[in-house]
Amino acid sequence: MVELSRTLTGFVTPADKATNDYLLLPFEVPPGVGRLTVRYTYTHRVSAALPGGSGNVVDIGVFDPRGAAVLQGHGFRGWSGSDRSQFTIGLADATPGYLPGPIYPGTWHIILGLYHILPQGCHYHVGITLSEEQGGRGAEEQGSKGAGEQGRGGAVCCGPRWYRGDLQSHTYHSDGTGSVADLAAAARAQRLDFVAVTDHNTVSHWAHLAAAGGDDLLLIPGQEITTYYGHANAWGARGWQEFRCRDDATMARIIDAVHASGGLFSVNHPKDNGPAWEYSPDLPFDCVEVWQGLWAANNWQSVDFWDSLLRQGRRVVAVGGSDKHVAPFTGQLSFYDLGMPTTWVYAEELSTAGILAGIRAGHVFISAEPQGPELYLAADGVYEGTMGDEVVIANGRPVMLRAQVVGGRGLVLRIVSGEGVKSVAVEGDDFTHRWQARPQDDTFYRLELVEPSGGRVERDAAATVRRALTNPIYVTIATPGRDG
Ligand SMILES: [Zn+2]
Repeated sequence: MVELSRTLTGFVTPADKATNDYLLLPFEVPPGVGRLTVRYTYTHRVSAALPGGSGNVVDIGVFDPRGAAVLQGHGFRGWSGSDRSQFTIGLADATPGYLPGPIYPGTWHIILGLYHILPQGCHYHVGITLSEEQGGRGAEEQGSKGAGEQGRGGAVCCGPRWYRGDLQSHTYHSDGTGSVADLAAAARAQRLDFVAVTDHNTVSHWAHLAAAGGDDLLLIPGQEITTYYGHANAWGARGWQEFRCRDDATMARIIDAVHASGGLFSVNHPKDNGPAWEYSPDLPFDCVEVWQGLWAANNWQSVDFWDSLLRQGRRVVAVGGSDKHVAPFTGQLSFYDLGMPTTWVYAEELSTAGILAGIRAGHVFISAEPQGPELYLAADGVYEGTMGDEVVIANGRPVMLRAQVVGGRGLVLRIVSGEGVKSVAVEGDDFTHRWQARPQDDTFYRLELVEPSGGRVERDAAATVRRALTNPIYVTIATPGRDG
């Protein structure tokens, strides 16, 4: 065998998409193959970045013989959405987005994602070349390790304190243009302690995280589970996660799988043009990305989504993410970059396990930039606690609460609780406000730091420009006769 080729062609319509968003196209690979190269085309192609309607968008990926079924995709070998028209996989190298390794003999599957199909339909043509060649063309990035060796532990250092980071970012392993090393350089320029690298629907970037990070910068293995009906981040899970989903029952199983593999699951940008989260708000997700990119981009809707969950008694952790699609690093930060916003996590150590434990506990606040402003909430006195904690008080007893603002002079502190909203002017660069709360019922208290806007803030949520916000302290009234 010198070279073999396979051709897969077909025609799909909106009716096909209505039945299933994904096509699995089988093809046979004989023994002795060292490299697989795929090229594909389709009619009326448009960029996924454009609003749907003007053309077809067909995504692509591939599974090897170890399995391609939904929720059993053990043979996942990569995904590139609609960003690349060709890819190659060899023993030691692969196109970013794809996992290098053995080209196992047996039945492989091309997967086509029918993201948008015009009424007149779409013809596709997939050409596959199989060759004996095994030699690498050189790894895309230096210092790579096998994908199985990605650093779940990662860098461990620096003891208990607040760490600054970013929980959503993309490289050229999906639709960014920069490498993991470019991302790390930008993160260091922003003086971030950690960044979750969350390329869309793949884990090929994981092999490059340990080499690009270090004692000063933790790169957390992540994946943005990017479905056609909503996006979510999985952080710290042990392997690739399923993304082929269109209903709540399947999404519930995906969340279970993320939890079972040690990860956290966060609903991303639940707002207009997020794109929105079309699944149930009652699914058991851990976090909500309430602040994605620049504040003005509809983030008030995401805060509203989260706040409505809090008012139902859910305890969901609010986080932020720049969703920066990194470019090659030039030495200059852009006006909108990693760390905008910054998520601050109180953790026992700078490690994936440490940061995830801090997030899980809700010991988290968000600021517009790595420089702040910083915003802290604590209960002190008889009842002690910090953001994310539950404070159980005796019926009729007060709880003493303390807000601390660093670098927020001239802004307005909003105290948001189940009982309403109260505003306080911030009168210095290191400002503390204490108050006594006497809740009549189980409730929560959380803080926002907003720009003053002459009273409009109270009336118009969309006009409220947040500069920082905290997770709540949950206050529970002890039930007489019940311990604890
Ligand atoms: Zn997204």
